[in-house]
Amino acid sequence: MSTARILDGKAIAAEIQQEIKREVATFVEATGVQPKLAAVLVGDDPASHVYVRNKEQACRRVGMVSELHRLPVTTTTAELLGVVERLNADHATSGILVQLPLPRQIDSQKILDAIDWRKDVDAFHPYNVGLLSQGRPQFLPCTPFGVVQILFRSQLKVAGKKVCIIGRSDIVGKPLASMLVQRSSPVGDDWANATVTVAHSRTPDLAAITREADVLIAAIGQPEFVKAAMVRPGAIVIDVGINRVGDRLVGDVDFQSVQSIASAITPVPGGVGPLTVTMLMCNTLIAARLQKIG
Ligand code: NDP
Repeated sequence: MSTARILDGKAIAAEIQQEIKREVATFVEATGVQPKLAAVLVGDDPASHVYVRNKEQACRRVGMVSELHRLPVTTTTAELLGVVERLNADHATSGILVQLPLPRQIDSQKILDAIDWRKDVDAFHPYNVGLLSQGRPQFLPCTPFGVVQILFRSQLKVAGKKVCIIGRSDIVGKPLASMLVQRSSPVGDDWANATVTVAHSRTPDLAAITREADVLIAAIGQPEFVKAAMVRPGAIVIDVGINRVGDRLVGDVDFQSVQSIASAITPVPGGVGPLTVTMLMCNTLIAARLQKIG
């Protein structure tokens, strides 16, 4: 039985972080400005704490400053808006990241809309979403950008291919579809120009659609949902999912069965995850440059 090539997200992320580190050093030398990421963490969700800590460590690795703003779980929308406005006005802050999910009493959309689009390193602001949809993005959302980087650095082209994305969230599925159907991408036209199908929970006969795909991307949030029978032999499979099952982290793809049929596959952990934080560093540098231009 043949097994798929395992796409090592950790190694790809380390390579990109080295590149970012060099670019940060050049930027600091030229401008005297050290890029700074301000992370805002509301409440005490343990997973969010881990994510924010990883982001702080990544900042240090690439030579950026990170600043954590911790707010109590009882914070109101108005109070959080006040913090965002202060960070928008702070010249030393290059990028602002408000860790999601926010406590229920907070209007998340209002908060994301209030972030200065030039500091919107998550690329969730409607202005940045609009630029992406028009094919002239300033920022690309971190996880979709990470998926494209894995494909690019593994020299797995998507142009002319049938890509199926399972999941239509604003964070992963929709922006990734938007990127892959464009005429070009920051890493070249071969990582755009795909024929993209977006499936979701209301898609009938999902397996018939996923079996058509040359590249199958799962961003569902259901542990090991994608089985071998849903995958075309020789397909490339990218697993965005991160699900905790007992003390294990598993993806949205049943890795054991699918690796025997796919030609390439990302593992969980160690696949898309490390790229998400890396692309956040990339976006923070872009934000610092944007503000330097004015
Ligand atoms: P959401 O819950 O926002 O969206 C899930 C999507 O999957 C929805 O569009 C939903 O459809 C669809 N879906 C759910 N169940 C099914 C099903 N049985 N059949 C078909 N479609 C289904 O999740 P996110 O996009 O935020 O995240 C997806 C996964 O990716 C999660 O595991 C998350 O932890 C992970 N993730 C990983 C990141 C990383 O860095 N690697 C970063 C961000 C997320 P519908 O719209 O109809 O409800």
